[in-house]
Amino acid sequence: MFWDQESETLTRPTIEQLQLKRLQNTVERVAQRVPFYRDKFTKLGIVPADIKSLADVRLLPFTTGADLRTIYPEGMLAVDRDEPVRLHTSSGTTGKPKAIFFSRKDVENAAELVARSLVMTGITRKDVLQNMMSYGLFTGGLVMHYGAEKVGCLVIPSGPGTSERQLMLMQDLRSTAVHILPSYALYFASFLEHKGIDPRKDLSVRKAFVGAEPHTEETRRRIEQIFGCDVYNSYGLTEMNGPGTAFECEHKAGMHLWEDNFILEIINPATGEPLPEGQTGELVMTTLNREAMPILRYRTRDITSVIPGPCKCGRTHRRIARFTGRSDDMLIIRGVNIFPQQIERVLMSFQQVGRNYVIIVEGLDDLTVRVELAAAGFDGQVEHVAALQKQLVEKLKAETYVRPKVDLLPAGSLPVAEGKAKRVIDKRSL
Ligand SMILES: [Zn+2]
Repeated sequence: MFWDQESETLTRPTIEQLQLKRLQNTVERVAQRVPFYRDKFTKLGIVPADIKSLADVRLLPFTTGADLRTIYPEGMLAVDRDEPVRLHTSSGTTGKPKAIFFSRKDVENAAELVARSLVMTGITRKDVLQNMMSYGLFTGGLVMHYGAEKVGCLVIPSGPGTSERQLMLMQDLRSTAVHILPSYALYFASFLEHKGIDPRKDLSVRKAFVGAEPHTEETRRRIEQIFGCDVYNSYGLTEMNGPGTAFECEHKAGMHLWEDNFILEIINPATGEPLPEGQTGELVMTTLNREAMPILRYRTRDITSVIPGPCKCGRTHRRIARFTGRSDDMLIIRGVNIFPQQIERVLMSFQQVGRNYVIIVEGLDDLTVRVELAAAGFDGQVEHVAALQKQLVEKLKAETYVRPKVDLLPAGSLPVAEGKAKRVIDKRSL
């Protein structure tokens, strides 16, 4: 099923022609109207006419999250101050947020991309979507809402309210789909269990859209199993509109990124150089269809790769893989880029290993992983510990290309963090 079959199945040459035309247009507009970019172009000695092919996108400057905070609130507007009709901000934890302005056309276009994304998973006007994301400055509420309305769904704007009220609405309105944080989905599942409700029998939810938080494939499968529904990954970066930036289709094999609206690049986060297709690096995006606030080469800090080859669904917009981390977390050890999430994935694949671990880098790029043994289910016999240690070293080496030292510790020996755990101690930078 397609929302806009023509746009979603454009041939590669047509997508690229369209991208080049829209890129030239965007660069021309920001050079004229946005002093922030005009100054950057002058410093780099480039003019809009230098953009002759798509590869020339690399001549353009990057835009970072820090830039967006510097120009806060409206230093990147490419339209008059009275032109935008909506404001969203990204959820910054410290300091000023990143403010993103939408013109009427931008609001309309964001809804269009959400409509494409939802229909791609099989959503129709018959569906009842309960949007359990926060409404307000965060895009997860409103942007998803208007996209689903566009499809013709009944949208229940429940927001992140209490579980009691979510359940009441879900039962009374027979919600068939939910938009939900993965961590809340797991919490809600235990709430239902406590209430003696079997989601498979007692609820009508058949699809769940999850995003806004990093989560693993295991979490997706768990949510699918508990609710008896299909779970689709959604990438909704506020700087790029929010929900509908990239979304999984019915095949759940990576997220289609709408390339008629964005140029996607994968770069080496340490050097800023482009990486060959299929390699893992930082996602960089350029808006092509933004009126109020175009953004060039935005450093998303999200680590992913382009999935090679066509998708079975017939859409030609390339897919990006599940994120493996944030570039801020990347460690460079003996010239190799390593993400703590890679190490975590290996550790969590061993049942005998507990959830608490710490990664230490010191000396001449020596990597040590200290991890607790599981509290139950492991006898702790010396020879079994030694065998496990050896297996862990081999598996970690295969995953990261660096041979680590592994310390196995009794359960409860590492400090338990309040809030977000500090997993990496890089003594080289001390
Ligand atoms: Zn597909």
